[in-house]
Amino acid sequence: MPDAAAPGSRPATTQLDALIVGAGLGGLYAIHRLRGMGMTVRAYEAGSDVGGTWFWNRYPGARCDVESLEYSYAFSDALQQEWKWPERYGTQPEILRYINHVADRFDLRRDVRFNTRVTSAVFDADAGEWTVLTDRGEVVRARFCIMACGNLSTPRLPDFKGLQSFKGAWYHSGLWPTEGVDFTGKRVGVIGTGSSGVQMIPIIARQAKHLHVFQRTANFILPARNAPMEEERERRHKADYPARRLAAYDTPFAIGGHPKPTRSALEVSPEERRAAYEAKWQEGGSISFLYTYTDLLVNQAANDTAAAFVREKIRGIVKDQEVARLLCPNDHPIGTKRLCLDTGYYETFNRDNVTLVDVRSDPIAAVTETGLRTGTASFELDAIVFATGFDAITGALNEIDIRTTAGAVLKEKWQAGPLTYLGLMVAGFPNMFIITGPGSPGVKTQMIASIEQHTDWIADCLGHLRAHGLDRIEPGEAAEAEWVQHVNDVADSTLYPLANSWYVGANIPGKPRVFMPYVGGFDRYKRRCDAVAANGYEGFTLTRRQPAMA
Ligand code: NAP
Repeated sequence: MPDAAAPGSRPATTQLDALIVGAGLGGLYAIHRLRGMGMTVRAYEAGSDVGGTWFWNRYPGARCDVESLEYSYAFSDALQQEWKWPERYGTQPEILRYINHVADRFDLRRDVRFNTRVTSAVFDADAGEWTVLTDRGEVVRARFCIMACGNLSTPRLPDFKGLQSFKGAWYHSGLWPTEGVDFTGKRVGVIGTGSSGVQMIPIIARQAKHLHVFQRTANFILPARNAPMEEERERRHKADYPARRLAAYDTPFAIGGHPKPTRSALEVSPEERRAAYEAKWQEGGSISFLYTYTDLLVNQAANDTAAAFVREKIRGIVKDQEVARLLCPNDHPIGTKRLCLDTGYYETFNRDNVTLVDVRSDPIAAVTETGLRTGTASFELDAIVFATGFDAITGALNEIDIRTTAGAVLKEKWQAGPLTYLGLMVAGFPNMFIITGPGSPGVKTQMIASIEQHTDWIADCLGHLRAHGLDRIEPGEAAEAEWVQHVNDVADSTLYPLANSWYVGANIPGKPRVFMPYVGGFDRYKRRCDAVAANGYEGFTLTRRQPAMA
């Protein structure tokens, strides 16, 4: 394939079968899978190395909240047998080491262009291919575009006045310096108490002279109970790894090892319920907790019992009852925002050098030269950490100018909320596939399982096109509308929409409030995708470009 030209000269056009945006877990598997079909592929990656989320999110305490024996690729049994996870939950450095190992083992780096951001992608309706531009001036033409640019990859800073004037250092959890940050002896402010804030706060508290935690919304946080990997557990898991993966695919979260619940929280006595929640609290982890009863995510009264249990725990751990009251979530059902897993989070508020600041009742008004100011108080800080989240699910796609020569513009089409068929494709944008995009169950599952399922489906689809002499696929408007309706109907049958979460874009001012992930479960979703393929790609139009008349 021709390469980009030397600096100064006119860039040559690179021709590919498939261009991939991103070299995180999604992009890397897409390289491997499509290259295995004999396709010419290349991934474009803004970072200087592989890893995506795990490349950027290097904040102290960053760790996966899905157990490491589950949160890993399944496509190669040799890989899953040989890799040794040292702990129950992988740390960011360990997961990044694993991703680098995968990149080397399968020789994936040679098809990644690093330090390069895709800026625009235009589908040429006549030529039937995409023309993609990068911020390094490269022009790439590709029959297919695979968007593997991540769901939580567009960091978001609140629009506070005065940040430029701040004389100290500031950081965002999702753009953490590679060399790390030492907060020893510093007065630190952490803004945000989602998964990222919850993981970093106990660690920063141990380093800092004083830590102010600026909390707008209290979250439900369960113990992770991280521990070194038990050898016997690992041995048993690896003895039937492929069967365990298959069993996991038959569950809503694509996570195995947890017996499916059989009873409602409301059909047992309060004592039995309490004992069940206590057992899950001791076991650690979010999925096992949500699996205590069948109806925790669909019935408010059932949910209330679990929420009350966690609040009681918070009041038991945190000594100052006014601080405990502020830490008790009170504005959403448990599990409807991403549940956080902690190691010593609530205990951290018993430290003398930690202060919880309620910025719900007294919002942050501005960053000052020396710290932060709310409506009523000022805080002197040497460093500010923004654990303020991401423009989730659609953010990275909307940063690319995606359009067609027929006049379609993705950002315009998605103005009132994203529309996709199966979360995989968008009507009006042929040959563009999305890995774990809006309408996919991705973020509500073991993400790597969804990545592999989506990519395998796409690869099979491309194989089908090739086998039938076709080169173009696009979903129909009706199929897309039906899927979007289904995604909404399923969400509305649960408690999820009651929370102001990033699932509905509530963390981004002005973003349309639309429930974006598919919460019908990975198992149900996979069956639907398989059926669509088995029925000749039902809902899609598959065609062959007519050669231009001589
Ligand atoms: P997040 O869950 O969106 O949390 C952002 C936090 O910042 C929230 O507490 C939010 O408050 C607060 N915030 C935003 N703007 C604010 C403002 N103007 N003033 C005060 N507070 C403000 O982001 P995240 O913690 O980075 O996590 C995002 C997702 O990434 C997670 O849900 C999870 O899926 C994934 N993640 C996973 C792990 C893991 O595997 N362990 C770790 C980190 C992240 P409000 O709630 O009031 O908006």
